[in-house]
Amino acid sequence: MSKITDLSKSRYCRGIQCPKMLWLDAYKPEEAADVLSETVMANGNLVGDLARQYFGAYSLVEFTYNKAEMVAKTRALMDAGTENIAEAAFLTDGLYCAVDILHRNGDGWDIVEVKSSTHLTDIYIEDMAFQYYVLTSCGIQVRRVINLHINSAYVRHGELDLHGLFTAEDCTEQVKAKSDSVAANIASIREYVSVEEEPGRDIDLYCENPYECAYKGYCGRHLPEHSIFDLAGMQAKTCYKHYHNGIISFEDVLANAKQIKLSAKLRRQIESTLYNKPDEIDKAKIREFLDTLRYPVYHLDFETYQQPVPLFDGISPYQQIPFQYSLHIEQADGSLVHKEFLAKEGTDPRRALAEQLVKDIPKGVCSLAFNMSFEKTVIKRLAGTFPDLADALMDIHDNMHDLMVPFREQSYYSTAMQGSYSIKYVLPALYPDDPELDYHNLDGVHNGAEASSAFADMTEHTPEEIAEIRQNLLKYCGLDTYAMVKVLRKLKEAVE
Ligand code: SF4
Repeated sequence: MSKITDLSKSRYCRGIQCPKMLWLDAYKPEEAADVLSETVMANGNLVGDLARQYFGAYSLVEFTYNKAEMVAKTRALMDAGTENIAEAAFLTDGLYCAVDILHRNGDGWDIVEVKSSTHLTDIYIEDMAFQYYVLTSCGIQVRRVINLHINSAYVRHGELDLHGLFTAEDCTEQVKAKSDSVAANIASIREYVSVEEEPGRDIDLYCENPYECAYKGYCGRHLPEHSIFDLAGMQAKTCYKHYHNGIISFEDVLANAKQIKLSAKLRRQIESTLYNKPDEIDKAKIREFLDTLRYPVYHLDFETYQQPVPLFDGISPYQQIPFQYSLHIEQADGSLVHKEFLAKEGTDPRRALAEQLVKDIPKGVCSLAFNMSFEKTVIKRLAGTFPDLADALMDIHDNMHDLMVPFREQSYYSTAMQGSYSIKYVLPALYPDDPELDYHNLDGVHNGAEASSAFADMTEHTPEEIAEIRQNLLKYCGLDTYAMVKVLRKLKEAVE
């Protein structure tokens, strides 16, 4: 940190969440893990750029490393009668902020803060309160403070309607109510980071909210190998409550099982971990599940992506848009046929995908997904969008079975699943050290998030790069359904 008492709006917000973050930024930045995804940042930039046009024509204060230059340019634009200034810069007493849009309002100004999320949160109010404090300290007449965020109910039809895409929420009163506390917060953050000795600060819910802290690994380094935070499905709030009551290790949890009303599933997770128990298999329940399937079985998996700003008609911000599927068709004798679909980059993939899907999956057959609620939601939405295909699509929807069921119900339980029934835990537990099923061995795309961003960004690549990305996507999604085939085989072996 160049000067640890300097504060920007983002650092102020980090300091509000937990001042130790700023202390670690200054003294031990190497301890931070990378937690903010590139997709989240790219979405923020895209939305921010678009929102600048919300009030009409604007002038942009270009970023430079010279803050004084940006501040001077802002002043010049204000004095010249500019109506809207994007990235308007202000600096006072080591406090710096760039306002997303400074909008002229009579003889004063509106602060407009743009967010790519779909709703207002408390930390946004803190963020705007800091900006309000800096601008009023600079002698600016602030009339209103507005939060401009995405309206998830917007559906694109034709030209993009910025006033439909964004919701402008007037937060002036909430911000003013906070304004008295800003000076005190700044003073306390500055004092906190000025001490060279590392502050003792225990972990708590603020390590998760409003943003996951990058220093969780460092601040939680005292936790035992198996702690309350590893219990599958236990809410963070509950974990921290028990942690602060001294219930930290798995042994502590068992010793206090009655007090914390430990469920049978969590007890099983703990005991199988502590006592290294062998796999527990309920053959009757697995048989019951297998008896619901009819061959050939169509193993299906979709990949989807989201657009904060919808590019195609009939799409809402952040709607899941399917662009790819893999289908392994398994006969009763175990033989396999593989089919797949991957949309052309830069096009609306839905119609072509839906048409191909109903050709690849005949009516009345048994389809299988892992955690089928996701696949069913995608299919149902496609059926709503394309009424002429609805009958065939809903047939697939209605004949779908969920391969997750035996694991969710713990009919097949392995210690290595760590209490989870997600495929990420189930697959390596059933096939440990199998390179054929190891997603780490894939090139470029290793998980759903990477698949989404690879497809979303594809048009920005050269034809050679696109060919390679498409190959990576096909291999990734193909492995998803092949993994399902292998999981089903393991279930069958378990009951033989
Ligand atoms: S992990 Fe928690 S205690 Fe440590 S810096 Fe982050 S928020 Fe603060």
